[in-house]
Formats: sequence, structure tokens, C-alpha cells
Amino acid sequence: MELPFAESYKIKMVETIRKSTREEREKWIKEAHYNLFNLKSDYVFIDLLTDSGTGAMSDKQWGAMMEGDESYAGARSYYNLKNSIKDVTGFDYFLPTHQGRAAENVLFSSIIKEGDVLPGNSHFDTTKGHIEFRKAHAVDCTIAEAKDTTAEIPFKGNIDLTLLEDVLKKYPKEKIPCIVLTVTNNTAGGQPVSMENIKGVSALAKQYGVKLLFDSARFAENAYFIKTREKGYQDKSIVEICNEMFSHADFMTMSSKKDAIVNMGGFVAFRNEKDWEACQMYNIMFEGFITYGGMSGRDMNALAQGLKEGTDFNYLETRIGQVAYLGKKLDEYGIPYQRPAGGHAIFVDAKKILTNVPKEQFVAQTLGIELYIEGGVRGVEIGALLADRDPDTRENRYPALELLRLAIPRRVYTNNHMDYIAAALKNVYDRRESITKGYVIKKELPIMRHFTVELDKA
Ligand SMILES: *Cc1c(COP(=O)(O)O)cnc(C)c1O
Repeated sequence: MELPFAESYKIKMVETIRKSTREEREKWIKEAHYNLFNLKSDYVFIDLLTDSGTGAMSDKQWGAMMEGDESYAGARSYYNLKNSIKDVTGFDYFLPTHQGRAAENVLFSSIIKEGDVLPGNSHFDTTKGHIEFRKAHAVDCTIAEAKDTTAEIPFKGNIDLTLLEDVLKKYPKEKIPCIVLTVTNNTAGGQPVSMENIKGVSALAKQYGVKLLFDSARFAENAYFIKTREKGYQDKSIVEICNEMFSHADFMTMSSKKDAIVNMGGFVAFRNEKDWEACQMYNIMFEGFITYGGMSGRDMNALAQGLKEGTDFNYLETRIGQVAYLGKKLDEYGIPYQRPAGGHAIFVDAKKILTNVPKEQFVAQTLGIELYIEGGVRGVEIGALLADRDPDTRENRYPALELLRLAIPRRVYTNNHMDYIAAALKNVYDRRESITKGYVIKKELPIMRHFTVELDKA
């Protein structure tokens, strides 16, 4: 008999989580103004708000923390991290930052000016925020198939090279500080970008004299998909594939809270010394001295180790296998989601489920609230709240997809938890026809409103 799937690690420490009653949850979500970000984590049973910084560190990472060197300049931990980044990405230069958006802040302070244009594949919200905050524009060139949640294609995070070339033709290269390639494509459903597409983007970048940035939060998960889905990569190691991916980039921003399995941290890495030097001033101003940025020595040590573990094939197989397991459960119940299952999350197709809720009343947010009330499971909206208002017209933007993202923290939950999540979602799905009303905005910030928005029942 074929041996079944089993995790490539065992558990050394546990944390208690608590169930609650439906009445309690109805009260708590009302008090939170129907914003899942406003809930106390103690009010959540299974927390799928994000896979960012929520992973479980290993015994080796905790051990590495004890050996952290807290010297202000030139710490051993800095060099540990430098070596680890070099091994996995091939980049010689880097600046530590406290997280991914800080890496964006440092790099973009150096390269973006007002009126610039940055084409890419579904820019992440903080990336777009940092671009628009500088009065520049993010142009989404993701392939059209990404918007069809039923299309079962292996590399749904790809850039449409024709759309990209249109942008590169339309603007002078001085107006395009870089192309932003996000691996995996988070917003499109944790969908990977193929090596072939990376090569295509890189060729266009070179042809038009424009630089290429990888927004790399989930680069290892992307490499796993290349290994398992793209011809010619089956026999390459994850680290070899990562090196090949990054060989096409000029620089990378990293949220280490994702694939590097630490609770806080990030960095910018560069191919050339000049780009690194140009960013140093901003790193010192915003983050810290260039050999620690926003991180303590122990945290750099844990990150150096995390990069190794995050690029281990057996770990990635366990991780991505668990997300696929949840997807299979939803298939059994007929619940629609962005297909195929992504690397870090399942993106439930809320528009196909809550067909009676008008788009102005935030369909995916409504589904997220229902799932929380049903089972104490917290997901996150990837829909109109996140899409925010147009920076020029201030009109609400309604994206093609209304998704409820169920992000799976790394090495945290078991497949019993996956069964529970699927059952809670099935119960909501079974009463979907009776859900006819969503929510309206009571209070919002001018940019990145979804984090703090306050809502009322429509
Ligand atoms: C999380 C993330 C970021 C921002 O990183 P933080 O560590 O949350 O600041 C940027 N890009 C992508 C693709 C991400 O997933």
C-alpha cells in the first residue's frame, strides 16, 4: 500500500486555543465594527487572517536565537544572514529591515519619483500603497486567466508579456524605475510564476533598459511549484531553482515573515553595489545601521536559519500539501475557490457563493464575517475593501474577484484543523441563499483602509 501523507516534523511545544459560542462571537464581531482585524486573537479559534509572521519556529531557530550577536555594527548574526541570503538567492548585497514593507520603503525612497509607473503582477497592498503614496502608479499586467477562478492552469500568477510590453512602450524608461514581479502572486491566489515567464519578463526588462524587482515573500513556495509543475526542473533542488529565479532580478524585497518562517523581519537585496549604496541612507534613517536595519542580532540569526528550512523540499511538500488538503475538502463540499489551490492559502470565491449580496456591500467581507460567526475561523477579505478607492477620483474600486483568503500559518495547524475549517465553511455555504445583506462603511482611512475600517450592517 502507498504510504499516506505525513508531516515532515513533530511537535515540541504547544499553545492552547479556545473555542467560543456563536452568541459570544456575534457580540465580539459587532464590537469590532465587523472588521476581523479588530478582533482580539483570544476570540478566534483558528486564525487564518494571514500566514505572515504567524509560523512556528523550529528548535534550530530558537537555538540560533540564543547565539545572536547584538553588536551594533558588523555582528556575527549579520554575516550569518548575509551568507544565508547569498546561498539561497545569489545576491551579494543586502540591507536588513524590520519587515517587507520597510524594505519597500527603503528601496522605493531611492528609486521612485512622482509620476512614475511600475508595471507588475497584482502588486501586493503595501507595495501599491508605497507606490501610490509617492504619487506613482502601479499597473497590473497579470494574465487574464487569473480572474477566472475555475481555470485550472499551473502558473496563474504569470505576467501577460503583451500587456507588460505595452506599458514599456508607452512610457520612457526614465519613468519606469522597475518592473515588480511578485512570487508567488499573493493577490491572485498565492499562484506561482513560471521560470519561462520570469525569463520572458527579464528579456523585456533588458530590451527596454528597465530594472526588475522581485517582491519575494513566497519565493520558496514559487520554486516548489516550478519544481513540481514545470518541465525540466524535477531534478533540480529548491535552492538551485531559487538561484536561477533570482539570477534574472536586479533586486528583491523580502518579507521574511512568510517563507523564511520568522515572526518579524525583512530585507532588500541587490545585485549591484551602486543600488545597495544608494539605499543605505534610507536604511539608516528609517530602519537602523546597515548591518542590523530593523532587526536584533538574535532575529537575524533565526532568519538565517529560517531561510534554510524554508527552502527544504520536504518542508515545502508538507506545507503546500496541507493547503492542497484543505482545497480537496472544499471540493468534496462543492465550495468554489481560486483553482488550483495556492501555495499559502485557499482563496474562496465569495461572489459565486453569496450571489444575493450586492457588490457595494462587500461580498467577501460578508462571507468572512459569516465564517467567523459560524466557527470562530478568521479569514481575510481580498475584495473591494482591500482594492480601496482610486487615488485620483476617490471612487470605490470594485475588483473582478471578491475572495475570502484562508491563509495557512506555517507548521502551526494540523489537518484536523483543516477538516474543522472546511466543515464551518460548508455550514455557511449550505445557508448561502438566506444571506442577502452585507455591510456599509462607517469610517475609513485615506489609504490602506481595510486594516482599520469600521462597518455597519447594510
Ligand atoms: C507580506 C507581503 C509584503 C509586505 O511585507 P510585510 O512584512 O507584511 O511588511 C509585500 N509583498 C508581499 C507579496 C507580501 O506577501
